[in-house]
Amino acid sequence: MVIGIIGASISGLIAGKRLAETGHDVTVIEKSRSLGGRLKTVELDSLNLDVGLTHFDVSTNTFGTFVKQQLEKGSVQKWTKDFGLYDGMEVFDIDPNSDSRQRYTGTNGLQSLAESMSRWVDIKSEEQAGGLTYIGPDRGKKRSWMINLTDISVFECDAVILATSAVQAYGLLQTAQNRTESRRIIRHIDDIRYDGCFSLAATYDSQEVPDWKGIECEKSALKWISNESSKLDTDKTALVIQSTPDFYRKHAQKSEEEVKEMLLEEASNIIGSWVLRPQSTHIENWKYFKTKNPINEYFMELELEDAPLALIGDYLGGSSLENAFVSGYNLSEYWNKKYTEVTA
Ligand SMILES: Cc1cc2nc3c(=O)[nH]c(=O)nc-3n(C[C@H](O)[C@H](O)[C@H](O)COP(=O)(O)OP(=O)(O)OC[C@H]3O[C@@H](n4cnc5c(N)ncnc54)[C@H](O)[C@@H]3O)c2cc1C
Repeated sequence: MVIGIIGASISGLIAGKRLAETGHDVTVIEKSRSLGGRLKTVELDSLNLDVGLTHFDVSTNTFGTFVKQQLEKGSVQKWTKDFGLYDGMEVFDIDPNSDSRQRYTGTNGLQSLAESMSRWVDIKSEEQAGGLTYIGPDRGKKRSWMINLTDISVFECDAVILATSAVQAYGLLQTAQNRTESRRIIRHIDDIRYDGCFSLAATYDSQEVPDWKGIECEKSALKWISNESSKLDTDKTALVIQSTPDFYRKHAQKSEEEVKEMLLEEASNIIGSWVLRPQSTHIENWKYFKTKNPINEYFMELELEDAPLALIGDYLGGSSLENAFVSGYNLSEYWNKKYTEVTA
């Protein structure tokens, strides 16, 4: 089958890779220049800093096997010990013996995880899907679906996978809303809500690298401070400071400069006034940071025999990187059984 996947996210890329491995012709359409979605790494003063997800843990065999392969390849590393907890007053060391979670991170930015999966598929980056047209069975030689791109070209395919946030999938499905089936799914995902957050990356000149790796924050406008230098082979200090969803709700309309100053001010209360004097900064506004109310199934599918369409992503099955991965993996497993014999 010719499969069009909208969204070069972790869910879209793992699904695309596995479907391409069994002979399907897969093209991934991505509106941004870079791949990875919320796995986003920016280069600041020659350091690769994670302004999306900064680390993750593993609880399923499906994701665990993938992470083990990435550890062997050297693109992922274990990120252990030396984490702190800020309780609104002071920072405590988290006892590594009481915290059984194994944290993982990239060796040179987590976006490269997504990029490593992209060589199995064709990528159309900087191409935004604006709508879907269902062609249906009376279509002569045409394929079942047309993905309408915002540059007014179209991509014709036999099957579509929406690997975007629920809000973006909702918008795309609305355009194809000529079937009872799509209305059922639309009703289901209409209820899904997201929290937002800001991420601020900052580098420092002539500042000793802190001896902690990350600080979880409570009773603060900050959720998490990541010592990005501790992931890299560098003696230059680089942090990523993440806001809480509450902070985002209150300040989403403020200018980047105002948000940056407020985040630095908060961080200075926790780790010291040196934070107020960064060398370089980059701020990222995440409107869809995490799903508040995920759906309890890993993927959803339109039951159209002649025109497969499925939804995947982290809002299906949970709201983590691992859920996004398992969502894409499980759909590819299912479609590979369902459709590969037909195409073979
Ligand atoms: C700051 C931050 C911190 C996080 N921390 C953690 C954490 O500690 N632990 C954890 O497990 N998870 C964390 N996450 C969440 C994790 O990153 C996500 O769950 C996961 O990356 C989501 O992947 P996804 O496959 O669902 O899609 P996404 O990463 O959301 O990607 C969707 C893609 O679709 C593209 N797209 C959307 N619409 C269109 C369109 N119309 N046409 C073309 N392309 C389109 C987007 O550009 C994007 O690339 C964090 C996320 C952020 C932002």
